[in-house]
Amino acid sequence: MTIPEALRFRAGLQVADIDPSATPGFDGSKADAAAVQAARSQRLAELQEMLYASSKGGDDHRSVLLVLQGMDAAGKGGIVKHVVGAVNPMGVRYTAFGKPTAEELAHDFLWRIRRALPPAGHIGVFDRSHYEDVLIVRVRNLVAPEVWGARYDEINAFERELVDAGTTVVKAAMFISLDEQKEQLLERLDDPTKHWKYNPGDIDERLLWPQYQEAYQAVLDRTSTDYAPWHVVPANRRWYSRLAITEMLIEALEGLQLSYPPADFDVETERQRLLSS
Ligand code: ATP
Ligand code: MG
Repeated sequence: MTIPEALRFRAGLQVADIDPSATPGFDGSKADAAAVQAARSQRLAELQEMLYASSKGGDDHRSVLLVLQGMDAAGKGGIVKHVVGAVNPMGVRYTAFGKPTAEELAHDFLWRIRRALPPAGHIGVFDRSHYEDVLIVRVRNLVAPEVWGARYDEINAFERELVDAGTTVVKAAMFISLDEQKEQLLERLDDPTKHWKYNPGDIDERLLWPQYQEAYQAVLDRTSTDYAPWHVVPANRRWYSRLAITEMLIEALEGLQLSYPPADFDVETERQRLLSS
């Protein structure tokens, strides 16, 4: 089984049963992963260039959207830096979703999301996403239960719309253990060059771990669809979560059967014109 297949959410899977240190679909060591990662990052970069080229050279409107969700210190930033960082930034549209601004709050929760969707030929990256509106919002009671309760269906309808418009939606829910999060946050405190990453509020969310587990369970149960399935990514071992999400993106791009668009000019004529210029 490939890594993405091994990680695809299956009905009945319990968040409490996830082993955040597991490496589904990969039986090598950290050292083995390093070699594989280098080769696969290169493959990802090639495919991304083809996606970009298809939109420039023709009328291909397709795009890919990577949705990253996870608790603080789950490694979302590392995915952006190491996985997405391997491709040409020209073809990437990155957006981090934090606490909504007053303007964003005045609109429907999907308003800011729609504005951040990837243009044709791009890979969109959502560092947190519309799922915050059924995660922190649910856990913290930021809106009435009827309001967040209706959002699961709204999200499914929204993602259906995206897929129908040519966007392949790749969803990664990254799971670290409570202990691993403590280690990661301690590292941030122990290293002055990481203090900028530390947010005292992270401890407050950490204290609500069981409530978040429940909210993640509902997300997986209610928004993993055949057109936009969730991938449950164990994230205690960063080398694994990076390889896993690289493989998920490669799978999505290969599914598009991309090719470089043919020249819309006569190559021989252009060669002669150039040589004689
Ligand atoms: P890191 O994981 O590196 O700490 P981060 O994603 O936590 O990065 P921050 O700017 O520290 O980035 O935090 C964003 C915060 O905004 C999170 O606590 C998140 O839950 C919160 N947030 C995101 N979307 C919403 C929303 N729709 N409503 C309320 N809070 C939200
Ligand atoms: Mg944070």
